[in-house]
Amino acid sequence: MKRAAFRLLAATLVLVVSLAGLTAANPVPATEKIDSSALREAMSTPRIRDHLVTLQDIARAGAGSRAVGTPGYQGSVDYVRDRLTAAGYRVTLQPFTVPYFDEAAPPALTRVRPTRRAYAPESEVRTMSFSGSGAVTAGVQPVDLTLPPGPDASSTSGCEQADFSRFSRGAVALLQRGGCPFAVKAANAQDAGASAVLIMNEGQPGRRDTIAGSLEQPGTTVPVLGLSYDAGAELAAAPDSPVRVVTRVVSEQRETVNVIADSAGGRADRVVVAGAHLDSVPEGPGINDDGSGVAVLLELADQLARGSVQPRNRIRFAFWGAEELGLLGSTHYVTTLAPEQVSDIAVYLNFDMVGSPNFARMVLDGDGSEPGGTAGPPGSGAVERMFTEHFATQGLPSEPAEFSGRSDYGPFVDAGVPAGGLFTGAEEVKTPEQANRYGGTAGQPLDPCYHQACDTLDNVSDTALEQFGDAAADVVLRMMLSPTSPRELR
Ligand SMILES: [Zn+2]
Repeated sequence: MKRAAFRLLAATLVLVVSLAGLTAANPVPATEKIDSSALREAMSTPRIRDHLVTLQDIARAGAGSRAVGTPGYQGSVDYVRDRLTAAGYRVTLQPFTVPYFDEAAPPALTRVRPTRRAYAPESEVRTMSFSGSGAVTAGVQPVDLTLPPGPDASSTSGCEQADFSRFSRGAVALLQRGGCPFAVKAANAQDAGASAVLIMNEGQPGRRDTIAGSLEQPGTTVPVLGLSYDAGAELAAAPDSPVRVVTRVVSEQRETVNVIADSAGGRADRVVVAGAHLDSVPEGPGINDDGSGVAVLLELADQLARGSVQPRNRIRFAFWGAEELGLLGSTHYVTTLAPEQVSDIAVYLNFDMVGSPNFARMVLDGDGSEPGGTAGPPGSGAVERMFTEHFATQGLPSEPAEFSGRSDYGPFVDAGVPAGGLFTGAEEVKTPEQANRYGGTAGQPLDPCYHQACDTLDNVSDTALEQFGDAAADVVLRMMLSPTSPRELR
């Protein structure tokens, strides 16, 4: 589409004002009369793609990703902040800390005697996330193991401090999965003086392969390894045999930021927040997940700043950190708001993955109308309807997507803020019905590169970017011009 600022909206605002006399008992979404065509005309898919080119370059200049704690994330923050500042937004960086873990080398576990045996990384031994670093040689001491295992998960090895009452300080603790979190086992072992901790799988069918576990937070100073059941059982059969354990990791708290951009105009007690997450997973550059949502919002922010519209309700663009670590940035943001600041947020709109190459046209199911669905806070159904009606007016079919809380709208919903958003699909396989409706390939994932190194520029559909960019523009504009608070819309 052509590059053009939109100038027709001042006229539509008059129309909106004239529709404001609604009965409070039966509020009608007067926003349906707002014409977003000039803004949608101004939205440019090539410019959305240009943002993605930049994000991919930023990832490449880093270690190949834009994960929190990496140069790729910092580069993404700098880029988004600079663009929004240049467009005239008041940009703030909200700091918060996140647990950061990186494994610099595969673990080594070698039994030294009675016969030397090196256990194989991946198939027999793995470093637990948030293990400490270290290199130790000491005797193995089994702690409260149940060998062979009971028929049901029943081991509580290492869950109690008392399990270590006869433990020799400096020994390597051999523990078994079950009964409590790995972090509890590791902490008890470290407190008892273990120089390293080996946690074997429990041994029932389905609980025999190498444990890939996490201690959830930094703080453990000794190496902690997950073992297969067989590897653990072998070591348990020769107690006090010396083993060599080596891990090389980075495990620490790192500071990161959310990027928040506010426009000047519009009611501060009816803020429309539009968000996308700015981090990727460590495995790849995250160009669809969620470079696509970031790029759409940057283009929308730019076009709104160029246009002449006077918003009734304030717009705030939010670019979240650490979504991929469990919605940490959006959670931090919402939980640090005072109650009156929460009620000042009229609606939250989420754009996480809007360019999937084998896309489906999905709108978050805010009214919970799908089988087994849960509705969002009041107003969420109106958001869903606005997106759905936008697509329908373009002759584009769409479908509800599970309102699962699997992205940054979750913390807003938990705080009672009406929410909605768009989604083109992740690892889910396209059904034949979806292929009929949207084209693309049935039997293939909607995003075949979800959370992988191949989530690059080649993994994004321009058609999806254009259609979802227009839908974002339409609904954001309606919310900004709505004479009724989006919280009152039904
Ligand atoms: Zn995402």
